[in-house]
Amino acid sequence: METVKEVKKTQTMYDNVMLQFNRMAEYIDLNPNIREILSITNNEITVNFPVRMDDGRVKVFTGFRVQHNDSLGPYKGGLRYHPTVDIDDARALAIWMTWKTSLAGLPYGGAKGGIKIDPRNHSLGELERITRRFTYALGDNIGPEYDIPAPDVNTNEQTMAWIVDTYMSAKPAVVRSQNKHVVTGKPVGSGGLEGRDRATGFGVYLSIRFLIESRQETLKGKTFIVQGFGNVGYWASKFLEADGAKMIAVQDAHATIYNKSGINVEDLHEHCKPRKGSIEGFDADLEIDPQSFMGINCDILIPAALGNQITVDNAGLIQATIIAEGANGPTTEEAEVILLEKGITIIPDIFCNSGGVIGSYFEWLQNRSGEIWQLDEVMEKLEKKLFKVFKNLEKEVEENQIDWRTAAYKIAIKRIEKTYMERGVFP
Ligand code: GLU
Repeated sequence: METVKEVKKTQTMYDNVMLQFNRMAEYIDLNPNIREILSITNNEITVNFPVRMDDGRVKVFTGFRVQHNDSLGPYKGGLRYHPTVDIDDARALAIWMTWKTSLAGLPYGGAKGGIKIDPRNHSLGELERITRRFTYALGDNIGPEYDIPAPDVNTNEQTMAWIVDTYMSAKPAVVRSQNKHVVTGKPVGSGGLEGRDRATGFGVYLSIRFLIESRQETLKGKTFIVQGFGNVGYWASKFLEADGAKMIAVQDAHATIYNKSGINVEDLHEHCKPRKGSIEGFDADLEIDPQSFMGINCDILIPAALGNQITVDNAGLIQATIIAEGANGPTTEEAEVILLEKGITIIPDIFCNSGGVIGSYFEWLQNRSGEIWQLDEVMEKLEKKLFKVFKNLEKEVEENQIDWRTAAYKIAIKRIEKTYMERGVFP
């Protein structure tokens, strides 16, 4: 019995995404041939590459890129730097990207990758050499019309600048500039999109606002708690605060802080900047036991860190009425059953955090056509696009009386099924 319990506890993100997929395949009666295709990833690349450290030693790092499906267009998805990254995680995250881009109606497939590394243990110089050598090792397994990486956990516009520079440097001079869109999420000066930095967080905020407005309520006076105060957590909180909502607790890998009267988003952000993003030391009086975070009394819970955070162990404690999944895969299937029984609305990751990849799509289009879009134009387009996806989802939820994740998966998988039905399978 002990072992069974243990297996359940160590359920991976891959287990979770497959549980979701199999449940959905049954629910929508997915064509068995297409089910077979989508059950497995197309390509899985593992590279081991040497890098010289600051002290002169050479260390070998392991990086991954998993390409799940490209029936709708080039593979798309982020690269994360984290000690837990492995092929299994990359698989799960790649599969979620396929559903995410499909749901958003983008001409992309799904991929994900990263390096098994704790970036906090490396200097900027080491991170640059690791990133460049990883890019070189991936070679033509990525490409502007083939597989387009972007930022994810612990990677940012600087990482993308190193990748694009390395990738372009390896191409003949005459075609170099045709390769700018090999990654998205670049700094604005290097072909990046105005507003891509806030696109994911803005999308998380919008998804919450759309839901709340559909209930004829407003964000004013609503309380929220955030797990993870990186790019997504910060920007989502900033937009929510601007609409009158109050951030009352934040948790990251180093500390958990709680203040019933509210925590100022910008103050916390300023505190984190010189501390490699950590909230630690913000205010010792506000620190609480990390275990009590999920059970805090609030309206909205935003997991914006890693996967598998809401589990059978803490789902029962949650008091929020809305969970907005800024992270990918934060809720296990078993936990979801508990949450739905409690009447909690889960805004699923593949919709909630899709502002990021939609922003990436805009950047890619901008690079391809040689245009430069203004910030207000970008934000407007993003809002319009997300609202359309939201309305589509809402219709599915209401017409079929189903939860939001089921509705999102139904739309996403059906779009891919339709493409396969039209095109058939080669030869
Ligand atoms: N890493 C982000 C995600 O999980 C963005 C991916 C992209 O822009 O390609 O959606």
